[in-house]
Amino acid sequence: RWSHVQKGPEDPILGVTVAFNKDTSPSKINLGVGAYRDDNNKPYVLEAVKKAEKKIFEANVDHEYAPIVGVASFNNAAAVLALGEDNSYIKEKKITTVQTISGTGALRVAAEFFGRFLPGVTAYVPNPTWGNHNVIFADSKVPVKSYSYYNPSNCGLNFEGMIKDIQAAPAGSIILLHACAHNPTGVDPTHEQWKKISQVCKEKEHFVLFDFAYQGFASGSPEEDAYAVRLFVEDGHLIGLCQSFAKNFGLYGERIGAFSLLANSAEEAAVLESQLKILIRPMYSNPPVYGARVVSSILSNKELTQQWRSEVKLMADRIIDMRTSLVKYLKQHGSTKDWSHITNQIGMFCFTGLTPEQVDRLASEFHVYLTRNGRISIAGITSKNVEYLAKAIHSVTK
Ligand code: PMP
Repeated sequence: RWSHVQKGPEDPILGVTVAFNKDTSPSKINLGVGAYRDDNNKPYVLEAVKKAEKKIFEANVDHEYAPIVGVASFNNAAAVLALGEDNSYIKEKKITTVQTISGTGALRVAAEFFGRFLPGVTAYVPNPTWGNHNVIFADSKVPVKSYSYYNPSNCGLNFEGMIKDIQAAPAGSIILLHACAHNPTGVDPTHEQWKKISQVCKEKEHFVLFDFAYQGFASGSPEEDAYAVRLFVEDGHLIGLCQSFAKNFGLYGERIGAFSLLANSAEEAAVLESQLKILIRPMYSNPPVYGARVVSSILSNKELTQQWRSEVKLMADRIIDMRTSLVKYLKQHGSTKDWSHITNQIGMFCFTGLTPEQVDRLASEFHVYLTRNGRISIAGITSKNVEYLAKAIHSVTK
């Protein structure tokens, strides 16, 4: 019956972990992981999360179904975290937010919605982008193209190319933007550049979809990381917003996220919500409640929110420290190359500029594993392995 089904290719990121696990060297380093690790290379459970879990346990909650749109207190807290306390769309109920299966689920719900209500409209994603973007849109029958983003010659932003491509896209296209900590490049526009991007999207009447998977995790400040999202909303864009709480709350496996759409009126928001419900019901009926309970009990409590803020800052600061440290050791060990992009880029990932051949040598000669596009996850670097890593990178790049 299944003889016509051919074996599909492995996910390239999972391939890195497979190779890493096979290596028996004590100095091995996995720079492929997409999850935060502490300075001992261990997964980190936030204290704020542990306290919220204790509260949930003590409240003796039941395990009834959530509504199709998920846990209401979570949905509101998610929107407030992204858009800010005083946001008029939230106050005037000109927004609909549905709880989703983490950020991926938010993107998938968004894509299904576009496939249904913006049929044939092309979604433009940055080149490069998180690999799942292309596939999610394609699977939801949304045509997908890319706009210029990364400039390999300086490991920075190709701003002119980006603007040109967004301008050249047919009016009313869907433009996907990474709100902060662009994955995989770590390259974000400056505030001034964001203003121009907003203006161009406005002129072209594009629909802007933000993928916001790292709020707080990039700079350490949830407000600073929300700069672009809030700017576009102030500029009058009725944005779509995909949020993930995997990284900033360390809730990866709990699959907690949200998808929001801004509307012209409370009535329009209610109409959009009714259609989101019709779309979600046959996909997964309703979302899991645990992660929503954890996030909403943190964000509804001043003390826990404060604790979460300090912990998300701690994670962001460790990442920033490791960037500085890596560059310091590269120089100390004699590298004269310009590594400033390592510290200029932001978030968990860094596009090092290493070639596929150099990546192969790092694995075979130094037990250092990363994807062949030269992307490293800074979360895999610790104060104990950073010098070894710098020496290895210097060896393959001199
Ligand atoms: N968008 C981007 C840009 C990401 O990097 C990620 C996580 N790798 C996600 C969305 C979604 O992840 P999750 O489904 O785990 O929330």
